[in-house]
Amino acid sequence: MSNLRNFREDFPILNEEVNGRKIIYFDSAATSQRPNQVLEAVLKYDHEANGNPHRGSHTLSMRATEAFEQVREKVRKFIGAKSTKEIIFTKNATEAINLVAYSYALNNLLPGDKIVITIAEHHANLVTWQQIAKKTKAELVFMYVDPSGRLPLGELHKIDEKTKIVACTHMSNVLGSIFPIEKVIERGHQMGAKVLIDGAQAVAHMPVDVSELDADFYVFSGHKMYSLMGVGVLYGKEEILDKMEPFLYGGDMIEYVYEEETSFNELPFKFEAGTQGIESVVSLGAAIDYLEEVTFEYIHEREMELTAYALSRLKELPYIRIIGPEDMNDRGAVISFVVEDIHPHDVSSILDNYGVGIRAGHHCAQPLLRYLEVFTCSRASFAFYNTKEEIDVLVDNLSEVRRWMGYGSR
Ligand code: PMP
Repeated sequence: MSNLRNFREDFPILNEEVNGRKIIYFDSAATSQRPNQVLEAVLKYDHEANGNPHRGSHTLSMRATEAFEQVREKVRKFIGAKSTKEIIFTKNATEAINLVAYSYALNNLLPGDKIVITIAEHHANLVTWQQIAKKTKAELVFMYVDPSGRLPLGELHKIDEKTKIVACTHMSNVLGSIFPIEKVIERGHQMGAKVLIDGAQAVAHMPVDVSELDADFYVFSGHKMYSLMGVGVLYGKEEILDKMEPFLYGGDMIEYVYEEETSFNELPFKFEAGTQGIESVVSLGAAIDYLEEVTFEYIHEREMELTAYALSRLKELPYIRIIGPEDMNDRGAVISFVVEDIHPHDVSSILDNYGVGIRAGHHCAQPLLRYLEVFTCSRASFAFYNTKEEIDVLVDNLSEVRRWMGYGSR
């Protein structure tokens, strides 16, 4: 049983001190911390198997190839893809979205076609489509959230026969709301569009089955799911990826090269030009093993308990306004909020004095914050390694923030 062990002990960084206080890390939505098991797997790889994968027939290169391809199979199983041909390693979620944008959209969109996205997209899934719309003269259409931060199903009617691409986040990195992606995918397919889901905030928190979802593309970053930075994943349906042109050209993605012509490697290698970040890929494999040990059951239970507790404690403070759903329906462990009269950067730097790390700013979602007329806010995001006691420190010190800035705490 997974909850017999204290998983927090797997994360050495959580014993660090910041400004003389034990660190309280509430920024896992930006990047999660790495457990010993992940760090040790990377060291083991470097001690025993480092070589350039797919490049040589000597032992270390073959060990590296094996390590790399084992992770691809792990990722395939982890997200329920049918084939390892559908798993492309990228640098991060952003690069995975750009791969689809440049390789698929740029070659398939015509003037007058529509790209439909939500106003809650991270810049990675917004700026990319905005720029593709400009290049192809397609129309960029937004679906808007309601005041509680949820996507009303009525907005899905904006996906029509002219829509060629729908891009939608699985879970908002600002609002914390989980979007009705099954319905988005269904509607997109009814209208003949391809649907890309940005799973950057979802994969570490809930089981994802891309085959069941029937998503055409699903992207995520390893560093938000306990791996090192530098690896992301693009899942794409084989029949779509097969017809797409390579995104980057160079070594490893080729079959034969002549002076004038090149034939390209098969999937998935066609999309993996040049030497990949193999340590990061190895760390992603170890992170998947780790998540499977902890189990999504435990993660969900723990993160929901923490989120419900944080919401109830924050609601005690009259000067806090929560941005996003205030109830627990279809939401994840991200809470954005405004501390009345105080700039989020002041909130975050004063809290840092108490060892508490939260995020401040526009959270790479400027159009969303402009739409909500918030412009900038604070965000606390939790992982299963956090505790209720840490949430108490956050909430208790928010009144300190008010005092420091010359306001009463009530
Ligand atoms: N989408 C969402 C919802 C995110 O939260 C993030 C990271 N904040 C990204 C995409 C981009 O991830 P990365 O920077 O790892 O490419």
